[in-house]
Amino acid sequence: MMKITFHGAAGTVTGSKYLVEVNDKKVLVDCGMFQGPKELRERNWLPLPFDPTSINAVILTHAHIDHIGFLPKIVREGYSSPVYATPPTVDLAAVSLLDTAMLQMEDAQYRQKKKLSRHEVVLPLFDEDDAEAAIKLFRKANFGEWKSIGTEFRFRYHIAGHLLGAAGVELEMDDGVNRRSIFFSGDVGRYANPLTIDPSKPPMCDYLVCESTYGGKVHPAEDAFSVFEELINRVVKERSVLLIPAFAIGRTQQITFLVNQLIAKKFIPPIPIHIDSPMAIAATDIYSKFSSYHSIGQNKLQGENSMLDGQHVTLHRTRKSSKVLNELKGPAIILSSSGMLTGGRILHHLLNRLPDPTTTVALVGFMAEGTLGRKLMEGADLIYIHKSPVEVKARIFNFQGMSGHADWFELLHWLEPMEYQPRKVFITHGEKEQSEAMALHLHEERKWETVQPKMDESFTL
Ligand SMILES: [Zn+2]
Repeated sequence: MMKITFHGAAGTVTGSKYLVEVNDKKVLVDCGMFQGPKELRERNWLPLPFDPTSINAVILTHAHIDHIGFLPKIVREGYSSPVYATPPTVDLAAVSLLDTAMLQMEDAQYRQKKKLSRHEVVLPLFDEDDAEAAIKLFRKANFGEWKSIGTEFRFRYHIAGHLLGAAGVELEMDDGVNRRSIFFSGDVGRYANPLTIDPSKPPMCDYLVCESTYGGKVHPAEDAFSVFEELINRVVKERSVLLIPAFAIGRTQQITFLVNQLIAKKFIPPIPIHIDSPMAIAATDIYSKFSSYHSIGQNKLQGENSMLDGQHVTLHRTRKSSKVLNELKGPAIILSSSGMLTGGRILHHLLNRLPDPTTTVALVGFMAEGTLGRKLMEGADLIYIHKSPVEVKARIFNFQGMSGHADWFELLHWLEPMEYQPRKVFITHGEKEQSEAMALHLHEERKWETVQPKMDESFTL
C-alpha cells in the first residue's frame, strides 16, 4: 500500500505538507504554516489532519516558513522523530523557527493587551520551547546523499536553487511488493538569478509533485541590476528613502549583494543600506558560512568589501536601534521583514513612511493573496495595520524580476530532461488559476496529464 495525501499547498501557495504512507510507515514532506488570508491562517488552528506521533520522519525541502513553520506545532502535539534537511537549511530553519515562535508569542500578547481576540486568554500557536524542541530533531542530509527511513523509504536531495540549501526530494518507496519513486520539486528557483545557484536536472520518477507558484506567468525580461540602478540613482538624486520589505532569509541577502555590486561597479554612488531585522542579520552569517552553496565566492564575503554586509551596511539588531530609523533621512535604503508585510518590523516602517510621498516602497517578491503586500501591489490607497487606517502616499514600485520562483516557461525548461511522463503529475503550490495554467502548459507542450489535488485529498500510488 502506497498513498499520498496533500495536507497543504493544494489550491494555495502556503502550508506545504505532503503525507506519504507505505504500509504502516509514514513520512511528511515539508511541514509548512498557512499564511495569507484569514481563512487560510485559521487552518493552522484546526485539529491536526494526522497523528504526529505516528510519523516516522519529516523531510524538509527548504527553510521558508510556508514549508517548515508548522514543525513546532506538530512537535508540541507529540512529534519526536527525525527531521531531515540540507546543512544550510538546518541552520536557516533554526533561526527562522525561533523568530516565528517569537512573532507568535508577541502577536498573542499584543492581541491580549489590545483585546483584539474574542478569546479570554490568547495563546500562541506554539512558543520558543516548541521551536527549540523541533530544532533538536534536525538531521543533516547533503545533496545527492541517500538516506533510509526503515525499509519502506529512502530519499535524496536535488538542488532546487530558490534559496540557500533549497532542495527537491526524490523519495523511493517499497511496500514489499512494488517499488515506486516520487519526486517533489520543492520550490524551483530561477536560472542566472543573483546569488542563488541554478536548479539541477530533475530525476526520472514514477510520480511528480510540481510547484506552480507562477504556473501562468512569465517574469519580466528586465534585468534586476539595471532596474535597481535606475531606481537607486533616482532615490539618491531625490535624497529620499527606499523601503524594501524583504524576506529576512534570501531576499535580503540578494538585494544587499545587488546594491553592493552596483556600488562596486560605480553604477550608483555609495548609499547607506540599513538591514533592520535580527533574523536577516543571522541569515547573512549563514550565507557567509555556506559560500559553496551560492554564487558569491568566499573571498568576496570578508571584511569591509564583503558583498553581504561590508562598509555600506548598518545592521540593526535591537528595537531601540530600529526605532532610530524612524528619523532617518535619505538617501538611504531600509531592508526589513517580513517580505509579504504580514508582521515584523516592516509594519512600523510602513506606519511611519507610507503617508510620506517622498518614500518609495519597492515590492520585490511574491505577495500571497490576502497579505498587506498584495494590497499595496494592487494599488490600495488606504490599508490597515493593526486595525489602524494608514494612507498610502508613498510611491509603490513593483518589480517581480527577482522572484525566487521559476515561471512556467522556466519550469518547462527545467522539466525538459524528463523524457517520459510520470504516471501522475500532481500540480501543487499555486493559487487556483496558476495551477490550472501550469496544467494546461504541461498538456500543450508535453501532452502530460495532470492532477490538481484538493486540500486533504489522498491518492493511491
Ligand atoms: Zn520557498
